[in-house]
Amino acid sequence: MGSDQPVDDRQLLGLLKQASGDLGARAWVVGGYVRDHLLGRAQPDLDVVVEEGGAGRLAERFARLAGAGPPVTFERYGTAQVTLPGHLVEFVSARSESYAPESRKPDVRPATLEEDLRRRDFTVNTLLMDFDGNIHDRLGTAKADLEARVLRTPADPLQTFNDDPLRMLRAVRFAAQLGFALAPNLVPAMRQLSGRLASPVVSVERTADELRKMLVSERPRLALELLDAGGLLEVVLPDLAACKGVEQGGYHTHDVFGHTLLALGLTPADLVVRLAAVFHDVGKPSTATPDGAFTGHEEVGARITRAALERLRFSQKEIDAVVVLVRLHLRPVYYRSEWSDGAVRRLARDAGAQIERLMALARADVGASAYPEPEKLDELAARLATVLSERPTRLAPPVDGEDIMRARGIPPGPEVGRIKERLGELILDGEIEPSREAVLAYLQSHPDF
Ligand code: ATP
Ligand code: MG
Repeated sequence: MGSDQPVDDRQLLGLLKQASGDLGARAWVVGGYVRDHLLGRAQPDLDVVVEEGGAGRLAERFARLAGAGPPVTFERYGTAQVTLPGHLVEFVSARSESYAPESRKPDVRPATLEEDLRRRDFTVNTLLMDFDGNIHDRLGTAKADLEARVLRTPADPLQTFNDDPLRMLRAVRFAAQLGFALAPNLVPAMRQLSGRLASPVVSVERTADELRKMLVSERPRLALELLDAGGLLEVVLPDLAACKGVEQGGYHTHDVFGHTLLALGLTPADLVVRLAAVFHDVGKPSTATPDGAFTGHEEVGARITRAALERLRFSQKEIDAVVVLVRLHLRPVYYRSEWSDGAVRRLARDAGAQIERLMALARADVGASAYPEPEKLDELAARLATVLSERPTRLAPPVDGEDIMRARGIPPGPEVGRIKERLGELILDGEIEPSREAVLAYLQSHPDF
């Protein structure tokens, strides 16, 4: 061991068996790995629960046998992590938890295995696997719940969710990832406790992390429906919640919220596109007029989107990409065959690296209404492909500020930028050839330009 070769699951269990045998430790694989293994969904990360406070020692022994670096330990929670090529193995001493009302950080004390399993979020996350691969259902209902594909809390959901409100989002996220139903008492408990989801009890980072996982799951639309049913949408995505009941005419068949859900369901599993689908019409509630025009909703929506994603601490890169999509979302939808090549190039230039995603968003947006000519988008896609493959490209001027200053004999200043911009437009429209020589010649022959 000790190479960078990925370690396979059989080797992992073998090492765990050896390490726990050496120490006489009683330990099991627990949680998501076991659940996903039984569902035929491989996952690389593995949690090991250790009886009698032995997590740290077992982690060290395991790390040594596996040739990994020393474990990273979190004393307060009795956990220790070992990183192997392709895997994160987390060791946790069996524990019980009690919660102060204003925090989801528990006071932790050592406990029996059964107590440890009962403080977990859902029964399907309490299954154990020993290091020979046998499954153990200590709470007695976990296997049946897994087979019935139900998320059920081991304790009363009011207690489970009150102790750690993040579990409400985990319920929605697992439902979206796994296609499991929520036990009937979960949504009423959520409605009662949705207010506990606010910061500081649950950090925005954890909230955003769950939202991210919901959105890239196989069932993003279901996730939003469940958030709405549980009264969580108002807390997590208040700008989307504001779209509920906002009626719209034209080719629309649903209110803004219903349309957004439909559009989201038609997007590819790309976080940026899905965030853009969620936010694309959030500018509508505040721009609605009696004639149903929503003028400027894309600009207003872009601002709302930026503020919302900054509050959720998404990365600047993700925020910028999503905001571009929200701002431009109408452009492909308004495409007409009469558009000049310059207009098509202008769209390609404005969307830049987001052009593919913008088209994916437009297809979802159009598909989620009764828009009569969805095939127009195929025509636009073909024309975009053509202008994007032009060599030399017409999307960026082949001269820089220095060239312009020299050709014009002018000093640095805003005029340089203005000239460059106008040259760019003429190149886009095919009026000047996209070469440095042609542009400099144009400047020569148009001294007043
Ligand atoms: P994933 O596929 O996202 O890794 P997971 O079930 O493994 O799902 P983790 O967050 O990795 O979830 O946690 C591992 C296990 O720890 C869970 O299966 C569950 O038993 C328990 N657990 C994690 N977070 C919580 C929580 N907030 N409340 C209760 N139990 C939790
Ligand atoms: Mg996990």
